[in-house]
This record gives sequence, structure tokens and C-alpha cells, in this order.
Amino acid sequence: MPSLKYKHLFFDLDRTLWDFDKNSIETFKEIHNKYDLSGKGVSNFDKFMDIYHKINTDLWEMYRKGGIEKEVLSVERFSLTLSSFGIKDNALSRNIATDYIDLSPTKKNLFPGTIEILDYLKSKYMLHIITNGFEEVQHKKVALSGLSRFFTHTITSDEAGYKKPDHRIFEYSLELTGATNNESLMIGDDPEIDIKGAKEVGIDQVLVDHDGILEKGEATYYVRSLFELATML
Ligand SMILES: [Mg+2]
Repeated sequence: MPSLKYKHLFFDLDRTLWDFDKNSIETFKEIHNKYDLSGKGVSNFDKFMDIYHKINTDLWEMYRKGGIEKEVLSVERFSLTLSSFGIKDNALSRNIATDYIDLSPTKKNLFPGTIEILDYLKSKYMLHIITNGFEEVQHKKVALSGLSRFFTHTITSDEAGYKKPDHRIFEYSLELTGATNNESLMIGDDPEIDIKGAKEVGIDQVLVDHDGILEKGEATYYVRSLFELATML
């Protein structure tokens, strides 16, 4: 019975609890209208999103590995996306970057079952978040989507100084929460970032595959929805 063993559950935030992609699309629709991007040459919103996603993923990977600074990532993802539509406007890129940081964390779409499962788990375990992201952004997301009351600690990579899967952010989290690795469980959507990272420091893991596109792989447990956590925890 796994439920007897664990005391601390560490959740990833983006794409595990907080529906990053849905929230991103909402944010971009507002930005698209505000700056009249169609009028400036962004012919197609979906194409804009596709290009942005690819650029953002690549830049995030560089940022995660320490290759670029946070400020560069923030603006460059928009200037590169806009320039692929022939728009070269640094002020616009900077304005969009600021708006995105302000606006996206105000979005509240969570995955189905988030509140219900956290309500259930809260009485049985200590709940925390370990998230790769900017300090000011991630805390705002947690607060505005109504998640604050469930979590004892929300640990960001910004605060810890290390990003998942670096073992040091997990060690930092264990120390901060007073947890040991064998009584902890990491719950996240990313096999490389959440699962491998936790495994390296001896923390069991649950891979959450909302889209049904992953395989259990090396994860200790695998679920297709947050509701399934109730059957095992
Ligand atoms: Mg995630």
C-alpha cells in the first residue's frame, strides 16, 4: 500500500495541475487583439502559436541549462516569433513580453479534478509544489487559480537557484519541507524533468499523462488523470 509510506507529495504545476496550454492560448488571444497583430502581419493565430511554442520550447531548454538569462528568454521568444512574420519591432516585443508575464498568471484553467483531488489529499499528506519558473509568475498562478490553501510550500527554480531535473532543487525542497526522500512522492507530467530528476535523489514518482501520449517508462507510477491519484493515495 503506497499510501502508508508517503508523507509529502510534491506536485509540478504547469501542465500537471495548471493547464498551461489552455491558459497560454487565452493570454495570446488577448495580446493578439490588443496589439492588432493581424493588422501588423500575423496572418494566422494558430500559426503564430505553433511558431511561438517551438521557439519558446527551444529557448526554455537553453534557459534551463543556464545558456541564457531570464530577461533574454522573456523578450527573445516574442521577437523571434514576430520576426518570422516579418515584424521587426523591439518595443512591441518588449511590450508583449511584459503583458505576457502580467496576464498569463491571471488565467485560472486547471486540469479536471485538480481541486477535488487536492481536497482529498490535503487531509492525508503534506502537499508542496516544485516548479521550474519565475518566482513572481508561479506564485501568482497558484494564488489566483485558488491553489494556495492546499500547499505548505511552493518552491520555484528561481528561488532554489536550480531547475528540475537538477538534483539540487529536489534536495533543496526536501530540506525546506523537512521531508526525507523515501517518504516523498513527486507528481508531474514531464518524464525528463519531473520523473528522472526525482528518481535521481531516490524520490518515487507519478507520471501524469493527461494527453495519453507518454509511456510509463521509468516512473514508479503512471496515471492518465488526476482523479486516478485517489485510487492509489
Ligand atoms: Mg510540467
